[in-house]
Formats: sequence, C-alpha cells, structure tokens
Amino acid sequence: MITEQELAELSFADAPKIITDGVPGPKAAELLAEAPEFESMTRGGGGFPLVFDVGKGVTVKDPDGNLYIDVSAGVGVSSVGRSHPRVIEAIKRQSQILTHASDISNTRRGELAKKIASIAPPGLRNNCISYFTQSGSGALECAIKFARRVTGRNQILAFHGAYHGVWAASNAITTGDQYRRGYGPFMGGVIHAPYPYAYRFPLPLGDKSCEEVCGDYVDYLLNTPYTAADDVAAVIVEPVQGEGGYVPPAPEFFLKVKAACEKHGALFVADEVQAGTGRTGKMWSIEHSGVEPDLITFGKGMGGDLPMAGVIMRKDLAQQLDDMSQPQTFAANAVSSAVTMTNIDVIQEGELVTRAAQLGKEVLDRVQAASENLPIIGEARGRGLMIGIELVKDRETREPADGDMMMKVVMGLLANGIIMVPCGRNGNVLRLMPSLTITRDYMNKAVDILLDVLGTV
Ligand code: PMP
Repeated sequence: MITEQELAELSFADAPKIITDGVPGPKAAELLAEAPEFESMTRGGGGFPLVFDVGKGVTVKDPDGNLYIDVSAGVGVSSVGRSHPRVIEAIKRQSQILTHASDISNTRRGELAKKIASIAPPGLRNNCISYFTQSGSGALECAIKFARRVTGRNQILAFHGAYHGVWAASNAITTGDQYRRGYGPFMGGVIHAPYPYAYRFPLPLGDKSCEEVCGDYVDYLLNTPYTAADDVAAVIVEPVQGEGGYVPPAPEFFLKVKAACEKHGALFVADEVQAGTGRTGKMWSIEHSGVEPDLITFGKGMGGDLPMAGVIMRKDLAQQLDDMSQPQTFAANAVSSAVTMTNIDVIQEGELVTRAAQLGKEVLDRVQAASENLPIIGEARGRGLMIGIELVKDRETREPADGDMMMKVVMGLLANGIIMVPCGRNGNVLRLMPSLTITRDYMNKAVDILLDVLGTV
C-alpha cells in the first residue's frame, strides 16, 4: 500500500494556512463579485464563496495565496488528487501523440474499454461493453435510452432523493426542487419510490428495517396489478445516495430490488457516478450488496482531472443496440482516456480502495464518538470515504439545521482552511469525500477543525 510519506508528497505541505483577514480574501472576493456578469450562476458551485487558483493533490490555493485542505475533491471527482505527477505525465505524453479523434476508433479508448471490463463488478467483469460520454448526465441519458431499446419498454423507476443529472431524461429522474422547478414538463413514464433513508423515513416501519420496507415496496410496484408500473424498462438506483444526503442502505434493499427487477423483466442500473471509482471501499459501491447490476453508469472520479463518463453494459444487452446509433463528438478523447487509465493504475497500485475503507472507518468512528458531545450532529453515516454528517437544530425532533447554520459551518471551515460542501434534501448534510490520496494527517486535521467548528455553531 502506498505510504503516508508518498501521499504527503502529492500535496502542498503546511496546509491549511489562511493568510488574509477572513475568506474570501480581496482578490477572490473581486472575482466572485464580477462572475455573475459573465457566467451563469446556474452551475453547481455558483454560490460557493471560494475561487481555486492552484490545485496540488488534496490541497488548493486561492488567488490570495490561502492554502486549503479540500475534503470535497470537487464532489468526489479528484479521485487521485489534483495534478497527480503520473496524470501530468500521461497528459504530456498523450497530447504529443494524439489528442482527439472525434468518435473514430483510437488506440487509447480501445485500451480503456478493455481495462474497464477487467475492473467491472461481478456479473459484468470481462462480460461487458463500455459506451463513453463526457458527463454523468450524459451517461444517464444513454443508460435510459439503452434500457428502453433493449427491453422495448418505456417506464423508468427511480427513488426519492435521487440525483442523476440535469439534462432531459436524467432530469426527469432527478429529484430536488431547485433542479426541476420551472423546467418541466419532463419525460413521461417516470415513477419515484421511497429510498431507504431511515433517519427521515416518513412512514411507520413496524418491526421491519427501512431497507426491507423499501425493497418490498419496489416488488409490490413492479409485480402487482393496478399499480400502473407495468412497463418498466429499468430501475435506476444510487448504491449510496449522493446529493440526496449520503445515505448508504444495507444490502437487503438492493437484493430485494434486484429480485423484483428479475421478476418483472426490468434492468437493474447502478448509478456509480458519485459513489464509484473506489470511494466507498470497493471499486464499485454496488459490490457491497452482492447484487450484479445489468448496467452501470460512471463519471466523476474515473476521469478526475479530465472529463470521462459512460455506461458499462452486460455484453448480451449491449449487443442488441444498433451500430452507430449514438454518436458523440467529444466522447473518449484520447487524452481523457489516457488519464482515466492512469487514475485506475494509481488507485490499484496504491491499494487506495482498501485504504479508503480503512481510513473512512477511522473517520466515521471518530465523528460518531464525538457526536455524543455535539448535539448539532443528528447522524453520521457513510461507507469508505463517502461520509455524511447530518446536522440538526434539535436532536430529538431531528429538525434539520437551517441555511444560516449551514452557512456558519461552511464559512467557519473555510476560514480555517477546510473545504467541505453540503448536500442532502434539506441541504443540511456535510459530506466528507476527499481524494483517495488524502494523508491520515490531513484527514485528521480536517476532522479536528470540523469538530471545533461544530462546537461553536
Ligand atoms: N449521477 C450521480 C449519482 C451524480 O452524483 C451526478 C453528479 N452529481 C450525476 C449523475 C451527474 O453527473 P454530471 O454532473 O457529470 O453530469
């Protein structure tokens, strides 16, 4: 396994270090103030009060020279940290040979598809075909089309709290008022079922687990007359819900959903865009459940510094699709493909997946222990280095922390040089999702500061 010393060399030393009187500093503040004049603030980080200037490993400098530890990794994108020396080398080498071939075969995309087949989860491993896109949204668009084409069916079943992208079909299965309000009508044929989010489940569970209830409900929907879910092409599910609040259900839910899919004849699609690429302590987060998915969507951490996303399909399904029916000009750019292969190598050679499981458990144990004296923590949960800390106003009633409290926490962290971004249906879940290359020392420093800040809000 890669050593702590080797990992430390990938980032700036001495982080965090804030040298301005408060953040954002004057230069960043000026850039943030003028940004809305030139770029749409509909983008995800539009309102976040930080400007990146230099990124190295898990550390980031802003234009004022403040140095941060980034515990967000750009929402899980920088899986091996920013500008990893081997990634820089791969970009240099590949850009001197071939940059892009515009959907024509190129040597790198061919190698990448083979490599992905070798790391795909059981059921798909060396029995799958990749289709490349440039973003997670694009991958979900195509997964929906492929599932419909293969099954000859129309409906898609997704879950409350789901985030799958913001294009057309992907937006139709994404939940969240801010992504939907005023943008409809959306693609028809979409059904949303409850996700096993036990901390905020709206119905009584009796003596069953939330996973059992939600899994049984999917079976009821798909396999009972008069539920109107009679033409379902695919069930699309995040094995750990991301934007919906970092919710990691137990395997039982996925096993029940898979069984219900098989009975109905629907495909099981695991959206691994956020939880994949080793983050949860397995290469693919669905592997924790033992379920063999029919399709996987991937993105974010696979490309890391350069865009790479796509769909991994079981071979017998992929072979039913028509050749040249889904052209994409910028898919599998040769440089992005080379970088993605390098990321996979760095993850495998450094045993970063096993390390994510170990370090993630240490962090979660620590936060859970500390939460006994921090009533603002309603629940800390997670899998590997995908940890959510749900903040509340009142632990008894579970009333979510409001926008003011979350702003105090996020700004308190930034003022101390720690980058963490919230998520969740009420925006009250802090997510810890650093690059898999974060040192124990930096991770512990970030958690020290987090616990201090939480103690003051
Ligand atoms: N699926 C999941 C699970 C995601 O978390 C995201 C992005 N947050 C997407 C799809 C969409 O990815 P992208 O932003 O690359 O379009």
